[in-house]
Amino acid sequence: MTAASAKSIVIAGGGAIGLTCALVLARAGYGVVLVDPAARGANASGVAAGMLAPAFESVLDPASKGLFALLRAGRDAWLDLLPQDRGSPTGLSQPCALWVPTSSGISTEAMAESFNAIGAQFEILTSAAVQALSPGLDPKGAACLLTPEDWCLNVTLVTEWLYQEAIRLGVQFITASVTDFSPGTATLSDGRLIHADHLVIAAGLGRGMASIAPELACLSPIKGQILVFEGAGPRQGPAIRSAGGYVVARASGAMVGATMEFGLDDLTPDAVIAERLQGVGASLYPDLAGAKAHHWTGVRAATPDGLPLVGPSRAPGVTLACGARRNGWLLAALVAKTVASQLANDALDTFATQMDARRFDIA
Ligand SMILES: Cc1cc2nc3c(=O)[nH]c(=O)nc-3n(C[C@H](O)[C@H](O)[C@H](O)COP(=O)(O)OP(=O)(O)OC[C@H]3O[C@@H](n4cnc5c(N)ncnc54)[C@H](O)[C@@H]3O)c2cc1C
Repeated sequence: MTAASAKSIVIAGGGAIGLTCALVLARAGYGVVLVDPAARGANASGVAAGMLAPAFESVLDPASKGLFALLRAGRDAWLDLLPQDRGSPTGLSQPCALWVPTSSGISTEAMAESFNAIGAQFEILTSAAVQALSPGLDPKGAACLLTPEDWCLNVTLVTEWLYQEAIRLGVQFITASVTDFSPGTATLSDGRLIHADHLVIAAGLGRGMASIAPELACLSPIKGQILVFEGAGPRQGPAIRSAGGYVVARASGAMVGATMEFGLDDLTPDAVIAERLQGVGASLYPDLAGAKAHHWTGVRAATPDGLPLVGPSRAPGVTLACGARRNGWLLAALVAKTVASQLANDALDTFATQMDARRFDIA
Protein backbone atom coordinates (compact mmCIF):
# COMPACT_ATOMS: atom_id res chain seq x y z
CA MET A 1 0.00 0.00 0.00
CA THR A 2 1.17 3.54 -0.75
CA ALA A 3 2.48 5.22 2.40
CA ALA A 4 0.00 7.74 3.73
CA SER A 5 1.01 11.32 4.20
CA ALA A 6 0.13 12.48 7.69
CA LYS A 7 -3.47 13.12 6.64
CA SER A 8 -6.14 13.48 9.26
CA ILE A 9 -9.29 11.41 9.12
CA VAL A 10 -12.45 11.61 11.18
CA ILE A 11 -14.47 8.40 11.35
CA ALA A 12 -18.16 8.74 12.23
CA GLY A 13 -19.24 5.54 14.00
CA GLY A 14 -17.47 3.10 16.28
CA GLY A 15 -19.22 -0.19 15.51
CA ALA A 16 -17.44 -3.15 13.92
CA ILE A 17 -16.75 -1.25 10.72
CA GLY A 18 -15.72 2.11 12.23
CA LEU A 19 -13.38 0.48 14.75
CA THR A 20 -11.83 -1.75 12.11
CA CYS A 21 -11.35 1.22 9.77
CA ALA A 22 -9.76 3.17 12.65
CA LEU A 23 -7.23 0.43 13.26
CA VAL A 24 -6.37 -0.17 9.61
CA LEU A 25 -6.05 3.56 8.84
CA ALA A 26 -3.95 4.21 11.94
CA ARG A 27 -1.67 1.34 10.92
CA ALA A 28 -1.38 2.98 7.48
CA GLY A 29 -0.11 6.17 9.09
CA TYR A 30 -3.16 8.45 9.14
CA GLY A 31 -4.07 10.59 12.11
CA VAL A 32 -7.47 9.18 13.12
CA VAL A 33 -10.22 10.60 15.31
CA LEU A 34 -13.22 8.30 15.90
CA VAL A 35 -16.46 10.04 16.84
CA ASP A 36 -19.50 8.15 18.18
CA PRO A 37 -22.25 9.26 20.59
CA ALA A 38 -22.85 5.70 21.85
CA ALA A 39 -20.96 3.60 24.38
CA ARG A 40 -18.69 0.87 23.02
CA GLY A 41 -20.84 -2.08 21.88
CA ALA A 42 -24.14 -0.17 22.18
CA ASN A 43 -24.95 -0.72 18.51
CA ALA A 44 -25.77 -3.50 16.06
CA SER A 45 -22.20 -4.74 16.26
CA GLY A 46 -22.48 -5.29 20.01
CA VAL A 47 -25.47 -7.66 19.76
CA ALA A 48 -24.22 -9.69 16.81
CA ALA A 49 -23.52 -13.41 16.97
CA GLY A 50 -20.08 -13.00 15.40
CA MET A 51 -20.44 -15.59 12.66
CA LEU A 52 -18.07 -15.15 9.72
CA ALA A 53 -20.14 -17.35 7.47
CA PRO A 54 -19.43 -16.98 3.75
CA ALA A 55 -20.81 -20.41 2.88
CA PHE A 56 -24.06 -20.53 4.81
CA GLU A 57 -24.79 -16.85 4.14
CA SER A 58 -24.44 -17.29 0.38
CA VAL A 59 -26.68 -20.35 0.48
CA LEU A 60 -29.32 -19.26 3.01
CA ASP A 61 -29.64 -15.50 2.50
CA PRO A 62 -31.23 -14.62 -0.87
CA ALA A 63 -29.43 -11.23 -0.88
CA SER A 64 -26.05 -12.96 -0.61
CA LYS A 65 -26.63 -15.45 -3.45
CA GLY A 66 -23.62 -15.42 -5.79
CA LEU A 67 -21.41 -13.63 -3.26
CA PHE A 68 -19.45 -16.59 -1.87
CA ALA A 69 -16.08 -15.34 -3.22
CA LEU A 70 -16.60 -11.84 -1.85
CA LEU A 71 -17.81 -13.08 1.54
CA ARG A 72 -14.91 -15.51 1.76
CA ALA A 73 -12.51 -12.64 1.03
CA GLY A 74 -14.21 -10.84 3.92
CA ARG A 75 -13.53 -13.76 6.23
CA ASP A 76 -9.90 -14.05 5.10
CA ALA A 77 -9.26 -10.32 5.56
CA TRP A 78 -9.53 -10.94 9.34
CA LEU A 79 -6.37 -13.06 9.17
CA ASP A 80 -4.34 -9.91 8.46
CA LEU A 81 -5.96 -8.04 11.29
CA LEU A 82 -6.27 -10.27 14.34
CA PRO A 83 -3.47 -11.96 16.28
CA GLN A 84 -2.91 -15.39 14.82
CA ASP A 85 -2.30 -17.04 18.18
CA ARG A 86 -5.01 -19.68 18.42
CA GLY A 87 -4.82 -19.50 22.21
CA SER A 88 -5.58 -15.77 22.12
CA PRO A 89 -9.12 -14.83 23.14
CA THR A 90 -9.42 -12.84 19.94
CA GLY A 91 -8.32 -15.80 17.82
CA LEU A 92 -10.83 -16.97 15.24
CA SER A 93 -12.50 -20.26 15.95
CA GLN A 94 -12.68 -22.68 13.07
CA PRO A 95 -14.08 -24.91 11.67
CA CYS A 96 -17.32 -23.63 12.72
CA ALA A 97 -20.68 -24.39 11.15
CA LEU A 98 -23.02 -27.33 10.99
CA TRP A 99 -26.31 -27.70 9.12
CA VAL A 100 -28.88 -29.59 11.18
CA PRO A 101 -31.89 -30.46 9.00
CA THR A 102 -35.44 -30.30 10.32
CA SER A 103 -38.57 -31.83 8.82
CA SER A 104 -39.70 -28.45 7.42
CA GLY A 105 -36.35 -27.18 6.15
CA ILE A 106 -33.66 -27.97 3.60
CA SER A 107 -32.43 -31.58 3.73
CA THR A 108 -28.75 -32.34 4.26
CA GLU A 109 -28.58 -33.73 0.71
CA ALA A 110 -30.05 -30.53 -0.77
CA MET A 111 -27.66 -28.44 1.34
CA ALA A 112 -24.76 -30.53 0.01
CA GLU A 113 -25.89 -29.77 -3.54
CA SER A 114 -25.95 -26.05 -2.78
CA PHE A 115 -22.46 -26.25 -1.30
CA ASN A 116 -21.21 -28.09 -4.36
CA ALA A 117 -22.77 -25.43 -6.58
CA ILE A 118 -20.81 -22.61 -4.92
CA GLY A 119 -17.62 -24.65 -4.52
CA ALA A 120 -17.66 -24.65 -0.71
CA GLN A 121 -15.96 -27.41 1.28
CA PHE A 122 -18.04 -29.67 3.51
CA GLU A 123 -18.36 -33.15 4.92
CA ILE A 124 -21.42 -35.15 5.95
CA LEU A 125 -21.42 -36.38 9.55
CA THR A 126 -23.55 -39.08 11.08
CA SER A 127 -25.87 -38.19 13.93
CA ALA A 128 -23.48 -39.88 16.40
CA ALA A 129 -20.48 -37.94 15.10
CA VAL A 130 -22.44 -34.70 15.41
CA GLN A 131 -23.31 -35.44 19.03
CA ALA A 132 -19.64 -36.06 19.80
CA LEU A 133 -18.75 -32.74 18.15
CA SER A 134 -21.34 -30.75 20.07
CA PRO A 135 -22.43 -32.52 23.26
CA GLY A 136 -26.03 -31.71 24.16
CA LEU A 137 -27.12 -31.26 20.54
CA ASP A 138 -30.08 -33.34 19.45
CA PRO A 139 -29.88 -33.85 15.66
CA LYS A 140 -32.87 -36.25 15.91
CA GLY A 141 -30.99 -39.03 14.22
CA ALA A 142 -30.24 -37.02 11.09
CA ALA A 143 -26.96 -36.80 9.20
CA CYS A 144 -25.66 -33.20 9.15
CA LEU A 145 -23.33 -31.10 7.00
CA LEU A 146 -20.18 -29.61 8.54
CA THR A 147 -18.27 -26.86 6.76
CA PRO A 148 -14.80 -25.51 7.55
CA GLU A 149 -15.62 -22.41 5.46
CA ASP A 150 -17.56 -20.62 8.21
CA TRP A 151 -15.80 -19.26 11.29
CA CYS A 152 -16.77 -17.28 14.36
CA LEU A 153 -15.36 -14.53 16.50
CA ASN A 154 -16.36 -13.29 19.95
CA VAL A 155 -17.64 -9.78 19.22
CA THR A 156 -17.20 -8.54 22.81
CA LEU A 157 -13.55 -9.58 22.98
CA VAL A 158 -12.75 -8.45 19.45
CA THR A 159 -14.42 -5.05 19.99
CA GLU A 160 -12.29 -4.51 23.09
CA TRP A 161 -9.16 -5.68 21.28
CA LEU A 162 -9.80 -3.35 18.32
CA TYR A 163 -10.36 -0.45 20.71
CA GLN A 164 -7.19 -1.09 22.73
CA GLU A 165 -5.11 -1.54 19.57
CA ALA A 166 -6.51 1.68 18.13
CA ILE A 167 -5.68 3.57 21.34
CA ARG A 168 -2.17 2.10 21.26
CA LEU A 169 -1.71 3.43 17.72
CA GLY A 170 -2.84 6.91 18.74
CA VAL A 171 -6.47 6.94 17.58
CA GLN A 172 -8.41 9.59 19.49
CA PHE A 173 -11.99 8.79 20.61
CA ILE A 174 -14.68 11.46 21.06
CA THR A 175 -18.20 10.91 22.41
CA ALA A 176 -20.40 12.98 20.08
CA SER A 177 -22.08 12.79 16.65
CA VAL A 178 -20.72 14.14 13.41
CA THR A 179 -23.32 16.64 12.19
CA ASP A 180 -21.61 18.24 9.19
CA PHE A 181 -18.49 18.05 7.06
CA SER A 182 -16.70 20.11 4.48
CA PRO A 183 -13.18 19.17 3.37
CA GLY A 184 -10.94 20.36 6.17
CA THR A 185 -13.57 20.51 8.92
CA ALA A 186 -15.94 18.09 10.67
CA THR A 187 -18.62 19.62 12.87
CA LEU A 188 -19.65 17.71 15.99
CA SER A 189 -22.93 17.72 17.91
CA ASP A 190 -21.22 19.39 20.89
CA GLY A 191 -20.26 22.34 18.68
CA ARG A 192 -16.62 21.35 18.28
CA LEU A 193 -14.93 21.74 14.90
CA ILE A 194 -12.32 19.07 14.17
CA HIS A 195 -9.70 19.42 11.47
CA ALA A 196 -10.13 16.54 9.01
CA ASP A 197 -8.89 16.12 5.47
CA HIS A 198 -11.33 13.27 5.12
CA LEU A 199 -14.52 11.94 6.71
CA VAL A 200 -15.25 8.20 6.76
CA ILE A 201 -18.91 7.50 7.51
CA ALA A 202 -19.26 4.14 9.28
CA ALA A 203 -22.45 5.11 11.07
CA GLY A 204 -24.73 2.17 10.33
CA LEU A 205 -27.98 3.65 9.03
CA GLY A 206 -26.35 7.09 9.23
CA ARG A 207 -29.56 8.69 10.40
CA GLY A 208 -29.59 12.38 9.49
CA MET A 209 -26.31 12.10 7.55
CA ALA A 210 -27.75 12.03 4.01
CA SER A 211 -27.24 15.79 3.98
CA ILE A 212 -23.50 15.04 4.20
CA ALA A 213 -23.46 12.05 1.78
CA PRO A 214 -26.54 11.65 -0.47
CA GLU A 215 -25.87 7.91 -1.05
CA LEU A 216 -26.98 7.19 2.54
CA ALA A 217 -30.60 7.80 1.48
CA CYS A 218 -30.65 4.30 -0.06
CA LEU A 219 -30.19 2.57 3.31
CA SER A 220 -33.09 0.90 5.05
CA PRO A 221 -33.32 -0.70 8.51
CA ILE A 222 -33.64 -4.40 9.40
CA LYS A 223 -34.32 -5.06 13.07
CA GLY A 224 -32.77 -8.17 14.61
CA GLN A 225 -33.61 -9.91 17.88
CA ILE A 226 -31.40 -12.49 19.55
CA LEU A 227 -31.36 -14.42 22.85
CA VAL A 228 -28.20 -14.66 24.91
CA PHE A 229 -28.35 -17.49 27.45
CA GLU A 230 -26.67 -17.45 30.83
CA GLY A 231 -24.66 -20.61 31.36
CA ALA A 232 -26.79 -22.82 29.09
CA GLY A 233 -26.42 -24.32 25.65
CA PRO A 234 -23.13 -25.11 23.91
CA ARG A 235 -20.02 -23.31 25.29
CA GLN A 236 -17.79 -24.37 22.40
CA GLY A 237 -18.02 -26.16 19.07
CA PRO A 238 -19.52 -25.26 15.72
CA ALA A 239 -22.26 -22.72 15.08
CA ILE A 240 -25.47 -24.60 14.37
CA ARG A 241 -27.56 -23.50 11.39
CA SER A 242 -31.10 -24.83 10.94
CA ALA A 243 -34.32 -23.80 9.24
CA GLY A 244 -35.64 -22.02 12.34
CA GLY A 245 -32.48 -20.08 13.24
CA TYR A 246 -28.95 -20.52 14.56
CA VAL A 247 -27.22 -21.38 17.83
CA VAL A 248 -23.74 -19.97 18.42
CA ALA A 249 -21.60 -21.43 21.22
CA ARG A 250 -20.10 -19.01 23.78
CA ALA A 251 -18.12 -19.68 26.93
CA SER A 252 -20.71 -17.84 29.05
CA GLY A 253 -23.81 -19.29 27.37
CA ALA A 254 -25.10 -19.76 23.83
CA MET A 255 -26.73 -17.20 21.53
CA VAL A 256 -29.87 -18.08 19.56
CA GLY A 257 -30.96 -15.86 16.71
CA ALA A 258 -31.88 -13.98 14.85
CA THR A 259 -34.86 -12.24 13.31
CA MET A 260 -34.78 -10.22 10.08
CA GLU A 261 -37.54 -7.61 10.50
CA PHE A 262 -37.45 -5.48 7.36
CA GLY A 263 -38.27 -1.79 7.67
CA LEU A 264 -38.21 -1.76 11.49
CA ASP A 265 -35.70 0.45 13.29
CA ASP A 266 -36.90 0.26 16.90
CA LEU A 267 -35.02 -1.59 19.65
CA THR A 268 -38.10 -2.89 21.52
CA PRO A 269 -37.81 -6.58 22.46
CA ASP A 270 -40.84 -8.67 21.45
CA ALA A 271 -41.83 -11.40 23.95
CA VAL A 272 -43.49 -13.55 21.27
CA ILE A 273 -40.26 -13.58 19.28
CA ALA A 274 -38.26 -14.44 22.41
CA GLU A 275 -40.51 -17.45 22.96
CA ARG A 276 -40.07 -18.56 19.36
CA LEU A 277 -36.28 -18.22 19.53
CA GLN A 278 -36.19 -20.13 22.80
CA GLY A 279 -38.20 -22.89 21.09
CA VAL A 280 -35.72 -22.98 18.18
CA GLY A 281 -32.83 -23.28 20.63
CA ALA A 282 -34.54 -25.94 22.75
CA SER A 283 -35.39 -28.06 19.71
CA LEU A 284 -31.63 -28.29 19.04
CA TYR A 285 -30.26 -28.19 22.61
CA PRO A 286 -32.94 -29.47 25.02
CA ASP A 287 -31.13 -27.80 27.99
CA LEU A 288 -32.14 -24.40 26.58
CA ALA A 289 -35.83 -25.07 27.36
CA GLY A 290 -36.68 -22.78 30.29
CA ALA A 291 -33.07 -21.54 30.64
CA LYS A 292 -32.58 -17.89 31.54
CA ALA A 293 -31.80 -15.62 28.59
CA HIS A 294 -31.17 -11.94 27.92
CA HIS A 295 -33.05 -10.54 24.96
CA TRP A 296 -30.96 -8.22 22.76
CA THR A 297 -32.03 -6.20 19.74
CA GLY A 298 -30.13 -4.29 17.09
CA VAL A 299 -30.77 -2.54 13.79
CA ARG A 300 -28.81 -3.42 10.69
CA ALA A 301 -28.47 -1.03 7.75
CA ALA A 302 -29.10 -2.47 4.29
CA THR A 303 -28.67 -1.31 0.69
CA PRO A 304 -31.04 -2.42 -2.11
CA ASP A 305 -28.59 -5.13 -3.28
CA GLY A 306 -27.39 -6.32 0.14
CA LEU A 307 -23.75 -5.24 -0.29
CA PRO A 308 -22.34 -2.34 1.72
CA LEU A 309 -21.54 1.13 0.42
CA VAL A 310 -17.75 1.33 0.42
CA GLY A 311 -15.59 4.08 -1.05
CA PRO A 312 -15.83 7.69 -2.16
CA SER A 313 -19.16 9.46 -1.89
CA ARG A 314 -20.20 12.03 -4.45
CA ALA A 315 -19.59 14.52 -1.63
CA PRO A 316 -15.97 15.74 -1.73
CA GLY A 317 -13.71 14.34 0.96
CA VAL A 318 -16.28 11.80 2.19
CA THR A 319 -15.80 8.01 2.11
CA LEU A 320 -18.59 5.58 2.97
CA ALA A 321 -18.26 2.32 4.91
CA CYS A 322 -21.77 1.30 5.90
CA GLY A 323 -24.81 -0.77 4.98
CA ALA A 324 -23.32 -4.24 5.55
CA ARG A 325 -26.75 -5.72 6.39
CA ARG A 326 -26.42 -9.03 8.29
CA ASN A 327 -22.71 -9.46 7.52
CA GLY A 328 -21.07 -6.44 9.10
CA TRP A 329 -18.62 -8.47 11.17
CA LEU A 330 -17.87 -10.80 8.28
CA LEU A 331 -17.11 -7.84 6.00
CA ALA A 332 -15.57 -5.33 8.43
CA ALA A 333 -11.91 -6.20 7.77
CA LEU A 334 -12.42 -6.26 3.98
CA VAL A 335 -14.32 -2.96 4.10
CA ALA A 336 -11.51 -1.35 6.12
CA LYS A 337 -8.87 -2.70 3.75
CA THR A 338 -10.82 -1.36 0.76
CA VAL A 339 -11.25 2.07 2.35
CA ALA A 340 -7.50 2.24 3.05
CA SER A 341 -6.67 1.23 -0.55
CA GLN A 342 -9.01 3.85 -1.96
CA LEU A 343 -7.64 6.61 0.25
CA ALA A 344 -4.13 5.65 -0.89
CA ASN A 345 -5.26 5.59 -4.56
CA ASP A 346 -4.16 1.96 -4.90
CA ALA A 347 -5.59 -0.18 -7.72
CA LEU A 348 -8.98 -1.58 -6.74
CA ASP A 349 -9.99 -5.22 -6.86
CA THR A 350 -13.29 -6.59 -8.16
CA PHE A 351 -14.76 -6.69 -4.66
CA ALA A 352 -14.18 -2.95 -4.26
CA THR A 353 -16.01 -2.39 -7.53
CA GLN A 354 -18.93 -4.55 -6.37
CA MET A 355 -19.23 -2.49 -3.17
CA ASP A 356 -18.74 0.92 -4.90
CA ALA A 357 -20.56 3.52 -2.81
CA ARG A 358 -21.78 5.37 -5.93
CA ARG A 359 -23.43 2.39 -7.67
CA PHE A 360 -27.02 3.52 -7.00
CA ASP A 361 -28.72 6.48 -8.63
CA ILE A 362 -29.62 9.27 -6.27
CA ALA A 363 -32.69 11.48 -6.51
C1 LIG B 1 -29.15 -9.79 16.08
C2 LIG B 1 -28.04 -9.57 15.11
C3 LIG B 1 -27.14 -10.59 14.83
C4 LIG B 1 -26.10 -10.39 13.92
N1 LIG B 1 -25.20 -11.40 13.69
C5 LIG B 1 -24.18 -11.20 12.83
C6 LIG B 1 -23.20 -12.21 12.61
O1 LIG B 1 -23.25 -13.28 13.20
N2 LIG B 1 -22.20 -11.95 11.72
C7 LIG B 1 -22.09 -10.76 11.05
O2 LIG B 1 -21.17 -10.59 10.24
N3 LIG B 1 -23.00 -9.78 11.26
C8 LIG B 1 -24.03 -9.96 12.11
N4 LIG B 1 -24.95 -8.98 12.31
C9 LIG B 1 -24.86 -7.76 11.50
C10 LIG B 1 -23.85 -6.82 12.08
O3 LIG B 1 -24.09 -6.66 13.44
C11 LIG B 1 -23.92 -5.47 11.37
O4 LIG B 1 -23.83 -5.64 9.99
C12 LIG B 1 -22.75 -4.63 11.86
O5 LIG B 1 -22.87 -4.48 13.23
C13 LIG B 1 -22.71 -3.28 11.21
O6 LIG B 1 -21.63 -2.57 11.81
P1 LIG B 1 -21.51 -1.03 11.63
O7 LIG B 1 -20.24 -0.64 12.26
O8 LIG B 1 -21.76 -0.68 10.21
O9 LIG B 1 -22.78 -0.42 12.40
P2 LIG B 1 -23.17 -0.29 13.96
O10 LIG B 1 -22.65 -1.41 14.77
O11 LIG B 1 -24.64 -0.05 13.96
O12 LIG B 1 -22.41 1.00 14.41
C14 LIG B 1 -22.74 2.28 13.90
C15 LIG B 1 -22.28 3.30 14.93
O13 LIG B 1 -22.41 4.60 14.34
C16 LIG B 1 -22.78 5.50 15.35
N5 LIG B 1 -23.35 6.70 14.72
C17 LIG B 1 -24.57 6.86 14.16
N6 LIG B 1 -24.71 8.12 13.70
C18 LIG B 1 -23.53 8.76 13.96
C19 LIG B 1 -23.05 10.06 13.72
N7 LIG B 1 -23.80 11.01 13.08
N8 LIG B 1 -21.81 10.40 14.14
C20 LIG B 1 -21.01 9.49 14.75
N9 LIG B 1 -21.41 8.21 15.00
C21 LIG B 1 -22.66 7.87 14.60
C22 LIG B 1 -23.76 4.71 16.20
O14 LIG B 1 -23.86 5.26 17.50
C23 LIG B 1 -23.13 3.32 16.20
O15 LIG B 1 -22.30 3.11 17.33
C24 LIG B 1 -25.98 -9.14 13.24
C25 LIG B 1 -26.87 -8.11 13.52
C26 LIG B 1 -27.88 -8.30 14.45
C27 LIG B 1 -28.81 -7.15 14.76
